[in-house]
Amino acid sequence: MNWITNYVRPRINSIFSRREVPENLWSKCTECGTMLFHRELSDNLNVCTSCGHHMAISPRDRFAALFDGGVFVQVKVPEPLADPLHFRDQKRYPDRMKAAQRDTGEAEAMLVAEGEMGQTPIVAAAQDFSFMGGSMGMYVGNAIIAAAERAVKLKRPLILFSAAGGARMQEGILSLMQMPRTTVAVQMLKEAGLPYIVVLTHPTTGGVTASYAMLGDVQIAEPNALICFAGPRVIEQTIREKLPEGFQRAEYLLDHGMLDRVVKRTDMRDELITITRMLMGMTPAVKGSLPRPDPEPVAVPAPAPEGKAE
Ligand SMILES: [Zn+2]
Repeated sequence: MNWITNYVRPRINSIFSRREVPENLWSKCTECGTMLFHRELSDNLNVCTSCGHHMAISPRDRFAALFDGGVFVQVKVPEPLADPLHFRDQKRYPDRMKAAQRDTGEAEAMLVAEGEMGQTPIVAAAQDFSFMGGSMGMYVGNAIIAAAERAVKLKRPLILFSAAGGARMQEGILSLMQMPRTTVAVQMLKEAGLPYIVVLTHPTTGGVTASYAMLGDVQIAEPNALICFAGPRVIEQTIREKLPEGFQRAEYLLDHGMLDRVVKRTDMRDELITITRMLMGMTPAVKGSLPRPDPEPVAVPAPAPEGKAE
């Protein structure tokens, strides 16, 4: 027993702790290879401080940086039927779902919230690429409908951040049905005279690009985001031609009239505040007077020693 507790266990612990520390504290930029301190990276909204590469950001972190004081109320999304086709590839669909829920800590691939952004009331929805590729299944359809209904009820604009590999194949035709469903949801906003703003993030592809992600009154994208229906590799193989540099990237689409703007993530909040206030007929925001997404840490006085309280 002594040999195990005194020698083996510390060895095992040291191997694991040695491996964990650098991974937790440092991440490597996938574009330029710079090692970035995690705090510095999250403060910069997961944009590389060295080359400006935009890495993925979770919907929850995005909302924390979008809403005043990082405060938002999650909008309830009706749960769809689980695994209607009893789909199985290498894994059962419910097992894949459980793994994605465990890895992301989220229920599904879209988060809907309401709150204020620069004292401008909005409803926002964000898609999570780390949850099964952000794939559009029945839940995502329900989420967009819930977001649109909430926006109409509260008379607020809807801002949607898209990121998806396309439809969720585990739900077959039912996932494709979300294309017309979400189109109808967007139409509800238009009929109510409310703005619908889409922020396309890397990557937005497939059925998502073919429905709600391209129906915005204003189409914004993050730099270098891949935005397409079929990916460049598929097109290249089909037409047997070399595609131009930057094909289907945000800047290329902006040059070719598919987008209104390409905006850095760090400037996105100010940009969205300006656009939504303009479209809602509100007074323009005065720079510097708006509440920050993350308030300055407030010094909390030390608790009174026990017995002295009251
Ligand atoms: Zn970089």
